[in-house]
Amino acid sequence: PLAQLNDPSLLKTDALINGQWVAGTQRFAVTDPATGAHLADVANLGPAEAEQAIAAANAAWPAWKAKTAKERSTILRKWYDLLMANQDDLGRIMTAEQGKPLPEAKGEVAYGASFVEWFAEEAKRINGETLPQFDNNRRLLVLRQPIGVCAAITPWNFPLAMITRKVAPALAAGCPVIIKPAELTPLTALAAAELAIRAGIPAGVLNMVTADSDNSIAVGKVLCASDVVRHISFTGSTEVGRILMAQSAPTVKKMSLELGGNAPFIVFEDADIDSAVEGAFASKYRNAGQTCVCSNRIYVQEAVYEEFATKFAAKVKTAAKVGNGFAEGVNQGPLIEPAALDKVERHVKDAIAKGGRVLVGGKRLDGQFFEPTVIADATADMVCAKEETFGPFAPIFKFKTEQEAVDAANNTEFGLASYFYSRDVGRIFRVSEALEYGMVGINVGILATEHVPFGGVKQSGLGREGSSHGIEDYVELKYLCMGDI
Ligand code: ADP
Repeated sequence: PLAQLNDPSLLKTDALINGQWVAGTQRFAVTDPATGAHLADVANLGPAEAEQAIAAANAAWPAWKAKTAKERSTILRKWYDLLMANQDDLGRIMTAEQGKPLPEAKGEVAYGASFVEWFAEEAKRINGETLPQFDNNRRLLVLRQPIGVCAAITPWNFPLAMITRKVAPALAAGCPVIIKPAELTPLTALAAAELAIRAGIPAGVLNMVTADSDNSIAVGKVLCASDVVRHISFTGSTEVGRILMAQSAPTVKKMSLELGGNAPFIVFEDADIDSAVEGAFASKYRNAGQTCVCSNRIYVQEAVYEEFATKFAAKVKTAAKVGNGFAEGVNQGPLIEPAALDKVERHVKDAIAKGGRVLVGGKRLDGQFFEPTVIADATADMVCAKEETFGPFAPIFKFKTEQEAVDAANNTEFGLASYFYSRDVGRIFRVSEALEYGMVGINVGILATEHVPFGGVKQSGLGREGSSHGIEDYVELKYLCMGDI
């Protein structure tokens, strides 16, 4: 699939440090999850190169922060234009290494690029403040200054968007960055880095350290231990987020964490059931269930339980098309790796063993694919009620009262996305306010976009990405108290 790129020079396999492509002494293989085919061997860098990237970023910082907001904005805007001009190629690279269907991959390119566009605009709105003086001989000001060298560690499920959502606000604020992209999807990341160079982002301002899974741990340690790195942004598992927090404690780093979810999707008896079926399908089966905001637990009120379950199962049976993401009409690609299949299978088998009723699917397919699966009569003792499945399995639970649904939804250490369907305005406010989640979708199954604050509460993370708030983690407030006026 990569032989058909319009611009083959986007296919980079070396890392980027200080504006130079770095081959390193070792390589690691990147494979196509749909076919197992070998795609490329990418530079496998370690702690020494991570130190070089930190030094390069630190050296590039003064000139980057000295640029005017408008100058930074113009460069970011150019990067956005180049990402969009190369949407087809970036989409192809993404489908090849990540597996998501090509239309979905191109959609992610547009979504990922939108953060660059948004923060190009926001760069010009990093305003300071003047405060009322407490003494007429004084004047009080607040500056908002770039925090310094930032590091971003990103996951494989959104190979572009999880990078731009962190890097664009950092660059807009005047901070240089070091990116450690996911080892399963480095090619999309490197293509985006190539376009960043073409856009005029200066050497050392955007560095990309590629590494395999072992070296990622080592590079992560260096980034956390460095007292030059002032901020770490991470999207990935809660487990790794905890490790990074602990490793960053000695240098008291600011952190933005977007960790696991366990999204509830509640259908009340007053809901528009057909709309809820559409929303549940969109939310559950996007990227074959491999997003942190995918519905993990579907709760349906008893009066509409059978109707919803029957219609949802029918929808999944007819609408879900499994296959290679490059094939026409496919909307369910492969799972990212064998361990992901094992997890889905473990959750499905556990649900069946505990009395779950299989309405659709239930089994592995050849290769790295799993049947889109719907299981009714799910119960709170099942593993899928507690753990994030991160795959194409929808368990449907039954509830009686609103309070019972809210309690079940909140009964998790996670708090990222939640969804519910209701037409009752009182219930919409009550439930929205009661859900302990950073995001609530009401009568919708998809809610992310660049100008809204994306993020979680509880153990789903810290901070918000996107929106005007997305820049806050990358600036420090400085209070100026001037006397003798
Ligand atoms: P996922 O469950 O999405 O695979 P992970 O949390 O395992 O998420 O990985 C997300 C990112 O974190 C990847 O870039 C991976 O290389 C990196 N990573 C995993 N473990 C560590 C670690 N101990 N230190 C630093 N980075 C890590």
